[in-house]
Amino acid sequence: MLNIVVFGAPGSGKGTQSELMIKKFGLDHVSTGDVLRAEIKAQSEVGKLAETYISKGELVPDEVIIKVLANVLDAKKNSKGVIFDGFPRTIPQAKALKTMLNERGTDISVMLDLKVDDEELIDRLLKRGQTSGRSDDNLETIKSRLDVYHNYTSPLIDHYKAEGKHKEKKGMGTIEEIFARIEKAIEEVK
Ligand code: UDP
Ligand code: MG
Repeated sequence: MLNIVVFGAPGSGKGTQSELMIKKFGLDHVSTGDVLRAEIKAQSEVGKLAETYISKGELVPDEVIIKVLANVLDAKKNSKGVIFDGFPRTIPQAKALKTMLNERGTDISVMLDLKVDDEELIDRLLKRGQTSGRSDDNLETIKSRLDVYHNYTSPLIDHYKAEGKHKEKKGMGTIEEIFARIEKAIEEVK
């Protein structure tokens, strides 16, 4: 299986680039953020709990996310490969993901790290907030999300570097330019 972690700060283009990868490479897509938003919409127990974190820009606790992910993975057993978008966000989540994949006879192929300046991230997220209806696309919450990214999530870069799986890609430019860089990186590990 071709399992790809699409990594980057909030607003770095993970969702947009994942869509292009799905089309080009026939992969499945798991966005834990989308799963959580669907749970919130359904007002499930997980959704209600997740909402209290998401609206503040904080991370949903590892054990909640890991449980959600295990269910999703089992549903994708026969996939050619999975794109993990917005997950893992902490070192314990990365370790849990590796264990879950190993138990299913597979592993992460590559981690694609989309690099975008903070200033541009804020611009993009504020723009998205005008139409997304997301409770977390406002300046105050965006700032906490960026802090959370820098404090808890960016250490994953060294974690995946140590496993020889980290590939950094410039996430600025047109959507097509960025996708061309990603395509090249995927061809190298395919
Ligand atoms: N979130 C989380 N763990 C995840 C995915 C999402 O805690 O694995 C929460 C977190 O509060 C985050 C929000 O959901 O700020 C939105 O996540 P998403 O990945 O959709 O946003 P992005 O970072 O892509 O803008
Ligand atoms: Mg996203």
